[in-house]
Amino acid sequence: MAAYSAGTSNNNAAPLLRVQSLHALLYCERLFYLEEVENVRLADAAVYAGRRLHVELAREEEGDWHALDLKSEKLGLIGRVDCLRRRNGSLIPYEHKRGRAARIRTTNPPKGSKNSDEACAWPSDRLQVGAYAMLVEEATGQTIVEGRVRYHQDNVTVRVPIDPALRADVIQSISRARSLADCVERPPVTENERLCVKCSLAPACLPEEARAISRLSSESIHKPLQRSVGLKTQQIDQPSADQKAGTGKESSLATSHVPRLFPADDHRQALHVVTPGARVGRAGDEIEIFAPEQPKERHPVREIGQVVLHGFAQITTQALRLCADKEVAVHWITQGGGYIGSFSSGAGAVQKRIRQYEALRTPEFRLQLVRRLAEAKILSQLRFVLRASRNTDRETIGISQTIDGIRKLMPALQRANSVDAIRGLEGRAGALYFKALPTFIDSAIDERMKPEGRTRRPPRDRFNALIGFAYALLLKDVMSAILTVGLDPAFGFYHRPRSQAHPLALDLIELFRVAMVDLPIVASLNRRQWDPDDDFVVAGFQVWLSDLGRRKMIELYEKRKTDRWKHPVLRYSLTYARLIELEARLLEKEWTGEPGLFARMRLR
Ligand code: SF4
Repeated sequence: MAAYSAGTSNNNAAPLLRVQSLHALLYCERLFYLEEVENVRLADAAVYAGRRLHVELAREEEGDWHALDLKSEKLGLIGRVDCLRRRNGSLIPYEHKRGRAARIRTTNPPKGSKNSDEACAWPSDRLQVGAYAMLVEEATGQTIVEGRVRYHQDNVTVRVPIDPALRADVIQSISRARSLADCVERPPVTENERLCVKCSLAPACLPEEARAISRLSSESIHKPLQRSVGLKTQQIDQPSADQKAGTGKESSLATSHVPRLFPADDHRQALHVVTPGARVGRAGDEIEIFAPEQPKERHPVREIGQVVLHGFAQITTQALRLCADKEVAVHWITQGGGYIGSFSSGAGAVQKRIRQYEALRTPEFRLQLVRRLAEAKILSQLRFVLRASRNTDRETIGISQTIDGIRKLMPALQRANSVDAIRGLEGRAGALYFKALPTFIDSAIDERMKPEGRTRRPPRDRFNALIGFAYALLLKDVMSAILTVGLDPAFGFYHRPRSQAHPLALDLIELFRVAMVDLPIVASLNRRQWDPDDDFVVAGFQVWLSDLGRRKMIELYEKRKTDRWKHPVLRYSLTYARLIELEARLLEKEWTGEPGLFARMRLR
């Protein structure tokens, strides 16, 4: 799909610009670029309210024409005028806005009026109505001398003269929009922070995170990491006085206050369809589930973030179409817990992918990312080992050797000068970690629940069946995040293409394995949540989760996604569900001029 048009102009086939895009351009050039060039769209409550307003207006508006579609090859513009009215023989285009009008101070308020403020159009609204006026002129051959903007929140209509200055602004904006559209670089975040608070694309743009990066010198970002891998044992093992006191000075990485424009939680749920023979269909704007011998279920699509089909559950074309329209991802997972694939209509502008390919094909850059990812994973494993053995005699249970062994790998990780060398170190850390895991499971728990090393495809014990299935659930969430951000999941930087799972998804999943799967599963074992007989199916050397076991694991995993975690640099809390998307967005920032925040997460 073309990035910013519903048509093309004749000369040099440049796509026509949407008039609305000029509004975005004047608001913030980065907003224009994200929407029109990168094709990022996020429908928040304000956007839905705006759409509702326009639907209502379409019913109620009394005008000569309303919702009039116009385009001009000469101007290179396309747009829809909210309403066109004839007054005293002249045509007047109207634009409707949900919010309030701008105000200018008047020195001579009208007699009897207490107000010294006069309502006027915001510059971006003025530009928009000016562009519509020029489109109407070309379509009707009549000169338009005035446009009007109606602000519904304070119930005022302001007049906008279509004068030469406004016409020149429109032409100049079209030219600026065209040159930005040809640019490969994304414009920087606006200096006017107040604009971001009202911007619908803030959760994708991450302006505060970008400002935090520019406030922190690259030295201050990297130094503490070097210290931490240089056996910052005291800090990892025992909280500092500041950490204990919660003074907010735990790390020099910490910024002062970073306002959070990235939503802390996703209120949309994952809908898992587990019952064999179930079918997912559509009824209007609802997802319907038909399962044998069960009552029909209905879920409004606005409450669903993803549909997960386990085993041989079916989905109709109509339901898939609804999911595509509403940007609901659909994932397929085998009965045994293997990830099969995903479907998403998420944004995926080619510019994003080109930047991704170029960055990840640079060996030095790739090596840096791999090191950071491996470091994050190993430190999370180390912290889990330290945390789980906090109240034990580490020497006696043999955990001291694991801790020392992992710590000794960290300096080598910093020196490693190839991706293969880092893979080797990460593998050694993983072997030490998995060997230590059974120690953290209560000795009174059924021996059958304890792992004997790490086994995959197929899992050979109950513990591995649990983590294998949970990793597949995690993988589909990572895939969702990658597709939402518009990255190419097939092009990663650490994993080689090996299975159906995409390399970039396998890369990102490394950040979350310990916190989102290993830790909650070990905790659930110690809470005696699992029944070694009813929750598992043993077939020779292979162990799988039973239907009941899968349902329990899904519940445990989805609950973990709602737990909150505080980012060590940005210092705001968000759910693990949102953190996955945040990390995917921060990864993209590594090659879009705002690097330094990806893979800073550690198990706390
Ligand atoms: S969040 Fe701020 S910087 Fe980003 S697009 Fe919106 S207004 Fe521009």
